[in-house]
Amino acid sequence: MKKQVLIAGGGIGGMAAALAAARAGWDVRMYERVAQFSEVGAGVQLGPNVIRCLQAWGLQKALQQVAAFPERLQVRCALSGDELGALPLGRTVVQRYGAAYATIHRADLHGLLHAGVQRYTEAQLYQGLGIESFADASTTPPSVPGSETVVTVRTSQGKEIEGDALIGADGLWSRTRTQLLGYQAPRVTGHLAYRALVPQSALPASLRTRQVTAWLGPRLHMVQYPVRRGELQNLVVIVQGPAPHNLEDWDHAANARDLEYALQGTSTALQNAVHSVQAAGASWRLWPLCDRPPVRGPDDMARGLVALLGDAAHPMRPYLAQGAGMAIEDAAQLERALSMHDLEVPLRLRRYAVNRWQRNARVQARSTRNGRIFHATGPVRWARNLSLRLLGERVLDVPWLYRGDGVDQGRC
Ligand SMILES: Cc1cc2nc3c(=O)[nH]c(=O)nc-3n(C[C@H](O)[C@H](O)[C@H](O)COP(=O)(O)OP(=O)(O)OC[C@H]3O[C@@H](n4cnc5c(N)ncnc54)[C@H](O)[C@@H]3O)c2cc1C
Repeated sequence: MKKQVLIAGGGIGGMAAALAAARAGWDVRMYERVAQFSEVGAGVQLGPNVIRCLQAWGLQKALQQVAAFPERLQVRCALSGDELGALPLGRTVVQRYGAAYATIHRADLHGLLHAGVQRYTEAQLYQGLGIESFADASTTPPSVPGSETVVTVRTSQGKEIEGDALIGADGLWSRTRTQLLGYQAPRVTGHLAYRALVPQSALPASLRTRQVTAWLGPRLHMVQYPVRRGELQNLVVIVQGPAPHNLEDWDHAANARDLEYALQGTSTALQNAVHSVQAAGASWRLWPLCDRPPVRGPDDMARGLVALLGDAAHPMRPYLAQGAGMAIEDAAQLERALSMHDLEVPLRLRRYAVNRWQRNARVQARSTRNGRIFHATGPVRWARNLSLRLLGERVLDVPWLYRGDGVDQGRC
């Protein structure tokens, strides 16, 4: 009989996990506590490491229909507006890493994963139904060695459902994580992300973009890139400051005046881009950024019949643009592990965790370090600008991240 996986959470990670498990020959029941998938979120950058996973799942065509494929990454000084360095993307990345560099609206990425899942009748999605808690019979003695064990979840409607494995893909504030590893609040980073999406057609030609531009300044930076076939421009400004109180409710209506105040002293070119948002009739949303310390070992990602995936396991700062990417890589490795049909389920989940924890820890640590470099002041800022000017492409490319199959013996 087919094994059944239960998945808590239907975001990018949960949807990717559902697709991965169905491809591995499992029955899937995915529970998403929100009743309707919405357009929530903004742009997401996807490196070639992530695109290769999507290609392996047969999603290349769907990706091509909704994503943008920028030709270049340009780094500029937020204060002077000068170019500090650049990295060719487009064909160069395809030749170097065997897949493109894409930028995509989060809802479009979610939508194409969702469409991929819908190809499998074995996968059932339940919306408006949360997972409240679980009981893992494999870790509750006495269990007879070699006997079949199950994990039972309790839903928000009080129903109990049994499965052969549970994947906690329930995001930063994951209940699955809390029960599996014990409660530890996410870290408040003190960094605030203002995000906006603007129709490019509403912008003057000089402010439209087909590339990724990162503006680096003291205690702030901004990133701009096209999404949805280039029809929309995504802008993200990250500044340092106190977080709003209700952190779990992450999508706050942002106060454009606070943002303008935080950007005082930056270049006219940057400020023109920021002002263009309101002029185009769009608005800013605010995300207070939280993360957790890097994963410490496989036990942090899987125990018994329960595994964590995506932000539930390794929420990170967005300075390497890999949060969704690592969730997708997790799912690709979960597929490999779940396909090991002659292994008992806890061993398969262990294999998944062993393969993934170091890579995730490394990406978490490097994301934090990148944030310090992006927002540097004083001599560090001076040294950063000099090395970007002298070495450009060599400091902007990330071969250890973009190569490989999502398993590495990473150094943190
Ligand atoms: C400013 C910013 C910029 C970013 N830029 C990038 C980028 O360029 N590239 C990139 O790869 N990543 C980026 N990220 C990160 C990326 O958005 C996240 O890492 C990724 O979306 C995590 O996916 P997830 O599925 O693990 O979690 P989530 O997207 O949070 O999904 C969790 C889901 O679980 C559901 N849920 C929660 N609790 C329960 C429950 N008890 N039962 C059932 N369902 C539940 C939630 O409703 C939600 O739908 C960025 C993040 C930010 C804030």
